[in-house]
Amino acid sequence: MFDIAINDALCFINGEFLRASVGIKGEKIAYVGKENVKGDVEFNSPDLLCVPAFFNAHTHAAMITLRGLAEDMQLKDWLEKKIWKAERKLSEDDVYWGTKLAIVEMFKRGIACFSDLYIHMDKVAEAAIELGMRAVLCYGMADRGNEERGRKELEIGEKFIKEWNNAENLIKAVFGPHAPYTCTPEFLRKVRGKANELGVGIHIHVAETEWEREEIKKKYGRTPVRLLEDIGFLGEDVVIAHAIWLDDEEIEILRRRNVSVVHCPTSNLKLVAGIARVKEMSEAGINVALGTDGAASNNSYNMFFEMKLASLLQKIKYGRADAMRAVEILKMATENGYRAYGIKGGRLEEGHLADIALINYKAVSMIPHYSPENALVYSASGDEVEHLIVNGTIVMEDREVLTDDEEKIKRKVEKISEKFREVE
Ligand SMILES: [Zn+2]
Repeated sequence: MFDIAINDALCFINGEFLRASVGIKGEKIAYVGKENVKGDVEFNSPDLLCVPAFFNAHTHAAMITLRGLAEDMQLKDWLEKKIWKAERKLSEDDVYWGTKLAIVEMFKRGIACFSDLYIHMDKVAEAAIELGMRAVLCYGMADRGNEERGRKELEIGEKFIKEWNNAENLIKAVFGPHAPYTCTPEFLRKVRGKANELGVGIHIHVAETEWEREEIKKKYGRTPVRLLEDIGFLGEDVVIAHAIWLDDEEIEILRRRNVSVVHCPTSNLKLVAGIARVKEMSEAGINVALGTDGAASNNSYNMFFEMKLASLLQKIKYGRADAMRAVEILKMATENGYRAYGIKGGRLEEGHLADIALINYKAVSMIPHYSPENALVYSASGDEVEHLIVNGTIVMEDREVLTDDEEKIKRKVEKISEKFREVE
């Protein structure tokens, strides 16, 4: 007898869809096989696709409060003229409610875990735990060349990790230095040292724009990845977002150091950052995960959009329709995220965390039934996600969020948005 049983579904197992059953006990998958299983709660339907839930591997969830505020602007102007000004007005309470709205949206798109780099992270952790969402969290630090500021930032980052790492078996806390252009090499060295001392990972933006690459070259005489390599920053516990402006040797450095990369296609297009060399990085053996980035540069928390766009971009970049196949893209959106952050999940496999999305294969967008993986990557919008299980708990059933009051959350964020209307 399992806590939750899933029978007759088409399950994504080891890279292919098979008719199988899944049994969940506590927080984990305890059975995957051909036999029908019994559970306190059962989902028995041949019309469901059973897939590992998605992992949004890079975002700033509470930026949902700024969604649509600043559009059609280049990254530097977008940050300096709009986003950073608005963020100065962002209170703890705003981050709390904004994150909750973001999580509700992510649930509706089958996302069970998000990696977030932002401010007021205590509130992000509280929101995630209250909704039952898994999260990798870090306080976004930047010393901006000021040693005293760096000391304070590192203190906040460390305090957050000590308070929240492993909370409720849902939170993984890491360090989040913002980027090489907002953090000095001296500061990044200190972060690396602290991460070693505490045994936690690091999440950082790297090589997002050509401007960043040139700026770092001007300041330090080498490119961002070489700079990080030279100061001993890179390792298998480092996850870098974007990684667009890389040369061959930098790709080789990332591979050698077992660094994971998070590709954020919508954000990269929207802010005209560029198209990452995902196909080459994957072929080199680099673990590439997928992320939405913040809602101000996306504007959705929808991994279905990211999967489709990631696939299409690689096709056009390499002039090959088979540049990246649907199954590879599905893995990027699921197990590669878990692998990046060292979490045992992302696969329908005994002993893995029970983070599972059940998707309506009879939805109009999914007909006819030639291939579930092609339907998920190229046809689905996310509206097809029916039920979501996170850490062995059903957090959404029949598209209704069970762990919080969705209408209240929407009202709160509407109210919060009023103060951002006058940002100039
Ligand atoms: Zn970002």
